[in-house]
Amino acid sequence: MAKKETMRCDFCGRSQREVDLLIPGLNGFICNECAEKANEISKEYLGKMQESVLSDLNLQELPKPQEIKEYLDQYVIGQESAKKYLSVAVYNHYKRLSQSKDDVDIEKSNIIIVGPTGTGKTLLAKTIAKLLKVPFAIVDATVLTEAGYVGEDIESLLVRLLAACDYNVKEAERGIVFIDEIDKIARKSDNPSITRDVSGEGVQQGLLKLLEGSVVNVPPQGGRKHPEQKMIPVDTKNILFICGGAFEGIERKIALRLNTHVVGYGAGNHVSKAEQDKLLHYVAPQDLRSYGLIPEIIGRLPIVTNLEPLDRDALRRILVEPKNAIVRQYEKLMLMDGITFSVTDEALDFVVDKAIEYKLGARGLRSIFETIMMDVMYSYPSTKKKKFELTLDYAREQLDKSNLDKMLTLGNS
Ligand code: ADP
Repeated sequence: MAKKETMRCDFCGRSQREVDLLIPGLNGFICNECAEKANEISKEYLGKMQESVLSDLNLQELPKPQEIKEYLDQYVIGQESAKKYLSVAVYNHYKRLSQSKDDVDIEKSNIIIVGPTGTGKTLLAKTIAKLLKVPFAIVDATVLTEAGYVGEDIESLLVRLLAACDYNVKEAERGIVFIDEIDKIARKSDNPSITRDVSGEGVQQGLLKLLEGSVVNVPPQGGRKHPEQKMIPVDTKNILFICGGAFEGIERKIALRLNTHVVGYGAGNHVSKAEQDKLLHYVAPQDLRSYGLIPEIIGRLPIVTNLEPLDRDALRRILVEPKNAIVRQYEKLMLMDGITFSVTDEALDFVVDKAIEYKLGARGLRSIFETIMMDVMYSYPSTKKKKFELTLDYAREQLDKSNLDKMLTLGNS
């Protein structure tokens, strides 16, 4: 008879008539209002849990700077000083995140890495990212433009970071962003009074806002296609920024500052490439300023470190030593077909020589190696052969008959 009246919310006790909706469960009911409240409570609770997990970044469990560096050593050859600086900066970043509020406020130390292209800036950033317990994003400064111009707005940096942690704002606010090619947004002239240049200074000004820590409104997923979508406020105070750039020609600024007047000015004043490279060791904030970064940006990037150009020895090591070295990758690939792969020292030297000859640096090692190995990779899996040794003669023969040789010679001529 009054069966309907006995249907009540088992949480607030209200009857079906008193609520909009009663949702049945296995042994009872919940009304729409209680369900909403439960949802809010659980969200708040889970949010707090997540926060405490993050603020509990237990320093005991985190890798110490030396361990971070040892990890980097497994993947990145050389670049000792940059690896050290990065390890300390990342460790301090963790410390800052776990500091209690009333303590001395540990400020963040964003980093700028100066070094020729292809010497491991991105590799360093990616390797650090693998080890990290905080969200990480890599962004290219060249795509950034001032708001209103064609290109990506500065806030897109944070969109990437948010995407890296499923739009969990709290997590993103503790993340690390690697901005590559920061030198490409340098002011094009030393003269600060020159009319504003859109691609350079404007972007730097925009970036400054992020670097110094402010609340930035970030468009939600997919950009601003839907104006009705709410912007997401992200506080950048605790986000660590690592910037990288080749700063081509900065040696001249360094030389000028050091008053050596040696690089490329006037006949008879030329120094060897090796000496030029050494100048990078002395890179200082003033040089970045003469290169075209605005002083405010430099002030927000207090740690300046450099990457060494890779010499023959480093290139040779890159072929075999890193955990995912090219030679190791080929060993693994071939072993999957039951084939044992080996390579002679002369063949390795040959690959390195070619990379240097074509001015390809570390990036070229892989393309040269792949060209040489193409035929073997194509034919061996269908044969019964169980062993392949890459010799100098074979490497030379393969490269001679490949297009790579001709293409690169043409490209460099
Ligand atoms: P960039 O300095 O231009 O960011 P990358 O980090 O992208 O250079 O390097 C290009 C490639 O060259 C990497 O993927 C890596 O295979 C190799 N490489 C460059 N530098 C090193 C290094 N120091 N140790 C190991 N591999 C390196």
